[in-house]
Amino acid sequence: MHGLMQDRQLLVSGLIEHAARYHPEVEIVSRTCEGPIVRTNWAQVRSRAAKLANALRRLGVQAGDRVATLAWNTHRHLELYFAVSGIGAVLHTVNPRLFPEQIDYILNHAESRVLFFDITFTGLVTNLRPSLVKIEHFVAMTDTANLEEDLAGCEAYEALVEKETDELIWPQFDERSASSLCYTSGTTGNPKGVLYSHRSTVLHSFAACAADGLRLSSADSVLLVVPLFHVNAWGIPYASAMCGAKLALPGPHLDGRSLFELAVAEACNFSLGVPTVWLGFFKHIDETPGLDLAGLKLERVVIGGSAAPRAIIERFRRDLGVFVIHAWGMSETSPLATIGNLLPKHISLSDDDQSDVQVRQGRAIYGVELRIRGEDGEPLAHDGSKAGDLVVRGPWVAAGYFRGEGGEVLDADGWFPTGDVAKIDADGYVQLTDRSKDVIKSGGEWISSIDLENAAVAHPDVAEAAVIGIHHAKWQERPLMIVVPRPGSMPDHQELMRFLSSRVAKWWLPDDIVFAEELPHTATGKLQKTKLREQYRNHVLA
Ligand code: ADP
Repeated sequence: MHGLMQDRQLLVSGLIEHAARYHPEVEIVSRTCEGPIVRTNWAQVRSRAAKLANALRRLGVQAGDRVATLAWNTHRHLELYFAVSGIGAVLHTVNPRLFPEQIDYILNHAESRVLFFDITFTGLVTNLRPSLVKIEHFVAMTDTANLEEDLAGCEAYEALVEKETDELIWPQFDERSASSLCYTSGTTGNPKGVLYSHRSTVLHSFAACAADGLRLSSADSVLLVVPLFHVNAWGIPYASAMCGAKLALPGPHLDGRSLFELAVAEACNFSLGVPTVWLGFFKHIDETPGLDLAGLKLERVVIGGSAAPRAIIERFRRDLGVFVIHAWGMSETSPLATIGNLLPKHISLSDDDQSDVQVRQGRAIYGVELRIRGEDGEPLAHDGSKAGDLVVRGPWVAAGYFRGEGGEVLDADGWFPTGDVAKIDADGYVQLTDRSKDVIKSGGEWISSIDLENAAVAHPDVAEAAVIGIHHAKWQERPLMIVVPRPGSMPDHQELMRFLSSRVAKWWLPDDIVFAEELPHTATGKLQKTKLREQYRNHVLA
């Protein structure tokens, strides 16, 4: 027997309508590529998104068509989030930090029909243009006055919007329709498209707003550091519309000083970003004597995308009174999957013991099911002892990739293999120990490259460390550590080894440590271990 409830579809347009009706005056503050700060609010976002939606329709954009963006976090990019998905088209956010060949591949693979780009990317777009044969309209996200001359045939965003009215009744359609498209950064092979639906997006927003999720609410002023092109800015644009949070958008200015100033000016109490941006943030604090820290109102900062280093978690707490919420996810999980809130029993713990909980990646939120599996594919106990392959299932987890790339990705029971290796403890806290392709298999046992790297970066002379497996005749693989020293320091090989031996099991100690000036990273700041493996393939272990 079916229940007798209404089948109203969960659509992205419902989010912006709600925000405009119930939080019309809540501000959206945006730094722009042209320079000035622009202040709008949820009512204006709705109004301009509706005008833009009318403009898109006039350009011939239809349901299911892809509309791409190469853009920073600005009010215009936010408007596109609602305009494109609102009319049933698919918002395809492209990471401008990828290599031009990858951007070219992604735009052609997605067959996007319109490309909206920030004027900072004019050069990039001009270079790529000859091969972007599927794109019918290029729109520069600026006004006519700032439209550069070399952008022949491009339209200006403001000119498009100005011509339209904001009268629009958003179309109703199946909530399982595609709403947005993000390509994974493709550390191996070509990037693959993850295609989100309206339903997955709205359900994911509820999770972000839940008290044991990110507790996002109308009480929050959000410094949105994570880019709108990085897994939908972790879903925050949609969740903020759902709850009426204020947004402060940094535009192209992601340096420590700009972020600090925006956070102070907009009284931001909540922020989100990958670990690297917080390094820049603290560098600004360290290098600016007399900075008024009391003006900073931050309370919660979400860190994910890579492991949040203990030093950052502790510094946030000690110096700024900020609680770091460590979260894990991936493009294929929309991305929120596990969130590192404390349980009541942790509140009375010492700071040090709380950090032990916070360095783990948190617990699954409702909607996300997790398992770990051993090498034989059998489930492992959630007792914090054994690490295994992490698999995930849920209504905002990918079921496959755009255009069937990568073939069938789920197993018979619907589990998605994350490619991460993790332990799960009895309380459900996940601790990532490796990517499955990075784990070092030594004499039938696994060595966690991440644990070794964390041990190394705890050393005061180490800025960054990477550990890879090197072929070994007897043990199959042994760890090699590559260390980037802190500027001005030169760690001693033997002393570093002694330091590590007090932190990891003896048989985990790297067989060799080499020093390098820098390590290769992907466009989202992750270590590119494939490159390192190539580089050190013939390294002879000491
Ligand atoms: P992107 O590179 O675009 O951020 P991906 O989906 O490629 O997105 O990255 C997801 C991967 O990033 C995860 O599978 C995991 O390996 C890593 N990751 C994400 N969050 C964390 C975290 N908190 N700690 C450690 N690794 C993380």
